Formats: sequence, structure tokens, C-alpha cells
Amino acid sequence: MSDKIILTGDRPTGHLHIGHYVGSLRQRVALQNTGEFKKIFIMIADAQALTDNFADPGKVRRNITEVALDYLGIGLDPEKSVIFIQSQIPELTELTMYYMNLVSLARVERNPTVKAEIQQKNFGEGVPTGFVCYPISQASDITAFKATTVPVGEDQKPMLEQTREIVRKFNDIYAPVLVEPEILLASNEACLRLPGTDGKAKMSKSIGNCIYLSDSADDIKKKIMSMYTDPTHIQVNDPGHVEGNTVFTYLDAFCKPEHFGRYLPDYANLDELKAHYEHGGLGDVKIKKFLNEILQEELEPIRKRREEYAKDIPAVYDMLKKGCEKAEETAAQTLAEVKHAMQIDYF
Ligand code: ATP
Ligand code: MG
Repeated sequence: MSDKIILTGDRPTGHLHIGHYVGSLRQRVALQNTGEFKKIFIMIADAQALTDNFADPGKVRRNITEVALDYLGIGLDPEKSVIFIQSQIPELTELTMYYMNLVSLARVERNPTVKAEIQQKNFGEGVPTGFVCYPISQASDITAFKATTVPVGEDQKPMLEQTREIVRKFNDIYAPVLVEPEILLASNEACLRLPGTDGKAKMSKSIGNCIYLSDSADDIKKKIMSMYTDPTHIQVNDPGHVEGNTVFTYLDAFCKPEHFGRYLPDYANLDELKAHYEHGGLGDVKIKKFLNEILQEELEPIRKRREEYAKDIPAVYDMLKKGCEKAEETAAQTLAEVKHAMQIDYF
């Protein structure tokens, strides 16, 4: 076993979707099952979700249950991964307060993901300070557990960069207490930022262009059959485009060689299917049906497992409470080291 530690998580702003699955969740389960990590922490980021949903606490609360069920459904195992709720670990908030001193106002305003999210969300009266500062709070989450490895989607790159800057500055000014983390991105390009079913740049709970892990078989099929493909591919015989065609992007993310034998035996692999589409003569319905078979096969066991866990919600909360207790032990230890380094350990 290595000394590596994982910290990652999700905002409880909705059910988890296949973008989360290929961008981060699928990898987490694989990493969990290698057994090579010393510790794995998975955080439900409710405090972060409140930075832009503060007026709708019920939504955040409801979705804690949904995200926890999604986790259990995909196969995260509470015996191997500590699953916890961010707000229940006050040490994280305390660290954020100290880290804020290490980041200039200009620096938080420059974060490209935060900028894009501000554009996308309707903040009405103004952008909450807590929202602009959430990358600093994320630095607390990562460093509190001395995480070495953070498996997340590509939109999180600027957050990791911010965290690394804070670590370097803290260690330089005070003492070498904090650990510089590495981002771990999905190796398949289609998975870095899975587009929505509408073809928009990112599948996102807040936009609602998602196929959820908890969707019924019927819903999955309906969503796939009405997906965005290639607007210039009107007749079956017209040459089609594969680039920017969401059905092919999803196939890139989900398709395995054995799927062809099972569902499309006339083709040897995805390259052949793409070549036929580009040449003309392959209809959208056929590729959508193929994608549907693949996604149903992948999502059905997740949904079934999720439904089993949903029968005993108190047991899910019991699991979360135990996770919070374990997580707090580690975070408290780091906070003590931080306060000692900052010379604020008076008694
Ligand atoms: P919100 O709209 O509330 O921000 P979200 O759908 O962006 O929700 P998050 O909880 O912010 O989801 O992200 C959780 C994790 O999933 C992060 O690691 C993020 O990078 C990854 N992720 C989110 N959307 C995608 C996507 N479309 N493709 C790949 N990874 C994604
Ligand atoms: Mg997000």
C-alpha cells in the first residue's frame, strides 16, 4: 500500500449523472478497489452547495440523501471509503478562515471556472462572497485530509491550482505542514467534461441536460432518442459528423469492444461505426439504439443497488454519521498542526 490519500466529492444540488460518473465516480470506485490508497475520503459538499443555494436549504438537505444513495449505488464501500458531510466538520471552516489571508482578491476573481459559473447562475442582487471564495474552502477540504490525489472532472483544474498555491505559501511562511495535491483526470478525453444531452458544453445538474444514475430505463431511452446529434445529417445517406456529435461522444465514454459483438455484430469497433456515419448511410436511430443498449447495461445494476439502499434511509444516515466522525478525527489533527505552525496554539 502506498502513502497516497484521496479526497474528492460532489455538491448535493441534485442527483448524480453520467457526467459525474465518467468524469470522477467510475474512477473512484476503481481506485477504491485497487486497495493501494492509504485512505479515501469522499465528501458531500453541502457547505459549498449553499454558497449559491443559500436561499434553498431544503434542496441541499434533500440531495444529501440522493448523493449518498448514488454513491452506494455505484459501489463506493463505506468500509473502504470514508463518506462524510462537509458542514459537519467545523475544522474545514476554520481552515478556510486562515487560508483566506493567503489569497489576494484579484486572484479569487481570476479563477476561470468561478467566472464561467457566475455567468451561468443568476445571482440577482449580486454574487455572494462565499461563492467567489469557494475555491479557498476547497483548498481546506483537500489539505485537511493531506490528500495527495484528487480525482475530479476537468472543470476542477483551477481549484487544484489554487490549492497548490495556498499549500506552497502556507508551508513557506509558517512550516511545512500541508501536502501539495495532484489532480487525477479521467484518461479518456470524452470523459473530462461530458456534454449534456442537448449538446451543450457540460452536463450539469444546474442546467438540467442530464441522464441521471437514478433515471428509470424508460427515461434513459427517451433522453437518448431525443439527443442532439449532427444538425446537417438530415437523410440517412447524408455524410455525418462525428466531432461534436453528442451520441458519439457518449459512445467514446462508454463503449467497450465487447459491446459490438453483443449489439452491433456488423461492426468490429467504434472506428468502423464512425467511418460509416461519416461516409453516409448510417441513421441516427441506429446509433442511438446502440447507445441505449450500452447505457442500460451499465446503469441497471447501479439503479438496482441504489433502490435496495433506499429501503433503509436511517442506515444510510448512520453510515454518514460514522463517516463524519472518522473524517473529523483527521481534520482536527491537521488543524492542530496548522494552528501550531501559525503560533495560535495558546493553551
Ligand atoms: P453544479 O451544477 O451544482 O455545480 P455539477 O453537475 O457541476 O453540479 P459538481 O457536484 O459540481 O456537479 O461536480 C462533481 C464532480 O463531477 C466534479 O469532480 C466535477 O469535475 C465532475 N463533473 C461534473 N460535471 C461533469 C461533466 N459533465 N463531465 C465530467 N465531469 C463532471
Ligand atoms: Mg459544478
